[in-house]
Amino acid sequence: MDDQITHRYAQVKQRLAVVDPGGQVMLLAVSKKHNTKAIRSLYHVGQHRFAENYVQEATAKMAKLDDLDIEWHFIGHIQSNKTQVIAQHFDWVQSVSRMKILCQLAKYRSVEKDPLKILLQLKIGNEDSKSGASVSELIAIYKTARTLPSVQVRGLMCIPPPSSQEAIQMHHFKEAKTLFDKLQISDPNIDTLSMGMSGDLEIAVQCGSTMVRIGTDIFGARI
Ligand SMILES: *Cc1c(COP(=O)(O)O)cnc(C)c1O
Repeated sequence: MDDQITHRYAQVKQRLAVVDPGGQVMLLAVSKKHNTKAIRSLYHVGQHRFAENYVQEATAKMAKLDDLDIEWHFIGHIQSNKTQVIAQHFDWVQSVSRMKILCQLAKYRSVEKDPLKILLQLKIGNEDSKSGASVSELIAIYKTARTLPSVQVRGLMCIPPPSSQEAIQMHHFKEAKTLFDKLQISDPNIDTLSMGMSGDLEIAVQCGSTMVRIGTDIFGARI
């Protein structure tokens, strides 16, 4: 079982190396619905960045893995009553798309800790999608974030709608890349464009992703 996971992990790293021969792109292992034993075996072969979608599940795992130096990313939908726990336990939050959520995360992040690293989630490809902010909403949230010392915006995250057409996938990813480039011009802290999952990691990297979030192709299917 664990052998299988480390084998699949090596395969994902190989796929990534083909499109990112310089090794610049960060690989985030999305461990939602998978157990701490699997996380631990990946940690021991060198994977130290993990992402979770559900707060209770994540904090239970963090408690069990307290002896490991894991960088934890929150990538799920953020309910306002969970912002305190998220701000206290995670290193990165990638799914920020509402002003109210940003302000609560900033309020609850202790000043004694490093600033909470934030990615703003851009709505892409589907105007009706509930997750993600439009460009204008995102810029407003970004400007507010820059005034809050307990958070640091590091870039953008997006989840384009699934498509089997490469041209459409590219079009979506390039939309995010264009906004990312604009933000980067005036802000040296902006260095992370989180896009690409198991099914589209190659295209995402070709379009400028700096961080891919891989669940299924490392851990296997989620039940
Ligand atoms: C679950 C999830 C992933 C991982 O998706 P896979 O297709 O299993 O690789 C990546 N990003 C987000 C935001 C997710 O919720």
